Amino acid sequence: MEIMAGSRTLTMVKPTAVQKGFIGPILSMINKAGFRIVAMKYMKLSIDQAKAFYLVHKDRPFYNDLVTFMSSGPIVAAILEKENAVEAYRNLIGATNPENATEGTVRKSYGTSLQANAVHGSDSDENAGIESDFFFSMIERY
Ligand code: GDP
Repeated sequence: MEIMAGSRTLTMVKPTAVQKGFIGPILSMINKAGFRIVAMKYMKLSIDQAKAFYLVHKDRPFYNDLVTFMSSGPIVAAILEKENAVEAYRNLIGATNPENATEGTVRKSYGTSLQANAVHGSDSDENAGIESDFFFSMIERY
């Protein structure tokens, strides 16, 4: 029988969470929740790169703030694999606003504001593919 590899999602640990020393604790939660790390990178996005990543939000009122924030310091980007990865990861991270996120979720535990909500998680399989291609070439995936 063929072993199902599961599906994939793209996460980023956002600048404030990196700066506060939460890379380790967040990766630990990801690990304990059973995600496999397919690819990972520690880097700082330029303004133009952050603009490109969040292009889908270009008409939202918070677009410029979000771009400035996401390029303000280093981030960790990773492709994660698990069965039903997009939904499973959205459940692990919790609601967009940490104040509204369920106890025990990543955003409740490590988010500091609506904008600085600790992590990104893809919202669909299609966007997971687009976002993964943004950060990683095929030879950076294992
Ligand atoms: P997500 O899919 O849960 O990350 O939420 P969205 O796709 O709606 O928003 C993307 C990101 O923009 C969020 O993760 C927040 O970092 C940020 N964001 C969302 N809403 C607001 C807002 O009203 N103000 C600000 N400053 N940032 C926001």
